[in-house]
Amino acid sequence: METVRYLDYNATAPLCREAREAWLEAVERWPGNPSSPHRVGGRAERALELAREEMASLLGCGAEELIWTSGATESINAAVHHLSGTIAGELWVSAIEHPCLRAAAGRWFAGRCRVLPVDGSGVIDGEWVERSWRETPPGAVAVMAANNETGVLQPWETMAARCRDEGVPFLCDAAQWLGKQPAAGLGLCDYVAGCAHKFGGVPGVGWLKVARGFRGYLVGGPQEEGRRAGTENVPGVVASVAALRAREAWLRDPVNGNRAEARDAFEARLREASGGVGILGADVPRLWNTSAVLMPPGDCRRRWVVRLDREGFAVSTGSACSSGQEKPSHVLAAMGLDGSGERMIRVSGGWETEAGDWTALAGTLAGWLREGVGRVE
Ligand code: PLP
Repeated sequence: METVRYLDYNATAPLCREAREAWLEAVERWPGNPSSPHRVGGRAERALELAREEMASLLGCGAEELIWTSGATESINAAVHHLSGTIAGELWVSAIEHPCLRAAAGRWFAGRCRVLPVDGSGVIDGEWVERSWRETPPGAVAVMAANNETGVLQPWETMAARCRDEGVPFLCDAAQWLGKQPAAGLGLCDYVAGCAHKFGGVPGVGWLKVARGFRGYLVGGPQEEGRRAGTENVPGVVASVAALRAREAWLRDPVNGNRAEARDAFEARLREASGGVGILGADVPRLWNTSAVLMPPGDCRRRWVVRLDREGFAVSTGSACSSGQEKPSHVLAAMGLDGSGERMIRVSGGWETEAGDWTALAGTLAGWLREGVGRVE
């Protein structure tokens, strides 16, 4: 069988062993519908609630504040939809948010949405926040925890504290943060969205931490205290919490203390091969698993990814949603790198990635860079 070195964890992470085992056990043990009145249903409900309690304790919030959903897209849509009916002012949305947040804001906050800019490193602009807040405070703020394209970490804790002090609802998209950074503290945000497939849980499982008074738009059943209708995915939820538990333990294990080492060596080797290579967000704190490489000018984004695919490397061009599209990346544009989208290769490893995967990719790319592959004369 063909070997593929999978370096696209920010798009989706393969199901981890702990999640697989927990899922197999859950489908056997809890076949019932958690809303059913009989004991089989009751046992499924108990499993769901135990998972909710564990998830809430990882995030640092109350179990009653957590709603299970189908993923981060749904969670974000639900939060933005709810906010649009409850706040009077503008929603500030960082310029580098995932397309699902940008689209939700565009739909429900049409005409009352402001883009919060980022600097050249891809971090939200604190000075802009201070200045604009003095002029007209926001009605609500949405800033992601870690960017999916660059891995750059955002000052969500500071923003959450500022919003809390001023009584402004704060929404944090933690889809890329969870599992790669400790979850603790996220529960202090009013709204937190996440999904399991980014850290080796089950695809199609997500959650939303909500503030009091939240009203969802999915109606039809009494599930999730009437805040999100639809039968819950008990095995998926149980398995996903097992995955996050495993990732949190991995993060705490000192053996994994130097987790960015292989990624950093990869970047150093590319830079050595060509002075024209850029690494986005290299000067600010980033996720340890992500490298957003800007190849020298003149190369076509599609060709790089296709070429690498043929060599047995699965990497991406940017967010999964814009992969394969010729549309320029809004993240690069926000960082002042308009028109550079076709040069970007996003490499994202994971907990199972071996140093050899990064080394092999570095070898292939460095060879191409030296030979001038893709260069436009
Ligand atoms: N937010 C971020 C930062 C993401 O990277 C993604 C997935 O690409 C999403 C939201 C959407 O998540 P889901 O696939 O669970 O809808």
